[in-house]
Amino acid sequence: MPKSNQVLGIIGGGQLGSLLASAAKKLHIKTVILTDDRKAPAKNFCDEIIFSDYEDEKKISEFANKVDIVTFEFENIPFGVLNTISKSKKILPDPKINQIVQNRKKEKTFINDIGIQTTSWAYIKSKEDIIKNKSLLPGLLKTCTLGYDGRGQFLINDLDKIDEKLDFSNEYILEKLVNFKKEISVVLTRYLNGEFSIYEPFENKHKNQILIISKIPADIGRKVFEQSKVSAKLIAEKLNYVGTMCVEFFLDKDDNLLVNEIAPRVHNSGHLTINAFNVSQFENHLRSVCGLERVELKKIKNAEMTNIIGEQILNYRNKNFNKNEFFFDYLKTEIKEKRKMGHITILK
Ligand code: AMP
Repeated sequence: MPKSNQVLGIIGGGQLGSLLASAAKKLHIKTVILTDDRKAPAKNFCDEIIFSDYEDEKKISEFANKVDIVTFEFENIPFGVLNTISKSKKILPDPKINQIVQNRKKEKTFINDIGIQTTSWAYIKSKEDIIKNKSLLPGLLKTCTLGYDGRGQFLINDLDKIDEKLDFSNEYILEKLVNFKKEISVVLTRYLNGEFSIYEPFENKHKNQILIISKIPADIGRKVFEQSKVSAKLIAEKLNYVGTMCVEFFLDKDDNLLVNEIAPRVHNSGHLTINAFNVSQFENHLRSVCGLERVELKKIKNAEMTNIIGEQILNYRNKNFNKNEFFFDYLKTEIKEKRKMGHITILK
């Protein structure tokens, strides 16, 4: 096991920051987390946590001074924070990538420009734009920025059903609703020297636009299996990406693979890699951004991961588990409806 005495700064203190910090312990990497959330669960897992408003340049510089390199657990980081940090420390993945993927219009344009298919979509700035693109109905109107887990998304079935209260000071894209057969995702890690570790595709099930289950093997044919990996790899290459990222796909009724979105970070659908592979998506991310060697990926077992949402966590906290069941409690102080509170991975 290669050792590292590096100090890694992580922006964001949610479950992804927590799982990154846990993986860092194994590699002897010290972690300092920067967050604006006093209740951030990552405080239970990291070595040090700095609470700061994302406008507080002094605190952010203090964070930058404590670490050797910086990464992040979420992509919508205010530009000012990244700007302050990048004056003194390297941030990986390169924040320029965030400017593409945190804007659905730029993201979809980038993906289509490199020859990869997405859902059919159009840029929408007014009600008239929706009328002009009525061939995309029924469709989902999504805000270009700051939407996730279904937030900032509006289903429009037909032109009579456009909500008069829609706020067109926001920019949107309108996406045709895909009658998909399946959702899959490919999580990969690209290293500084251009090497890749690519996990096999995960099959995902959502409920109310929130991920509930991810499993391997995905029930897909060989062609889709290979093509999803090739597309994800091409996206990472074109972005000159360093770190772990995820590409989410829809598989439509005719077996067309359509990219839904890119997450420039470790991803919920990759949580099963902690137990099902020799190297998890979190360890791979740390290895790549900290410049450690890549370890050849090996699958240990097939697996199914289930997210534990809201009050369901109470049923798990006192439960006994079999030795093929791995329960993760994110130790969030408040239980909220629709909130991801933990997950369980079962090896098969
Ligand atoms: P998103 O926030 O764009 O990743 O969407 C969350 C989830 O909503 C997806 O994983 C799908 O289950 C569903 N969804 C998003 N866009 C579409 C679409 N164009 N057609 C059908 N379902 C969608």
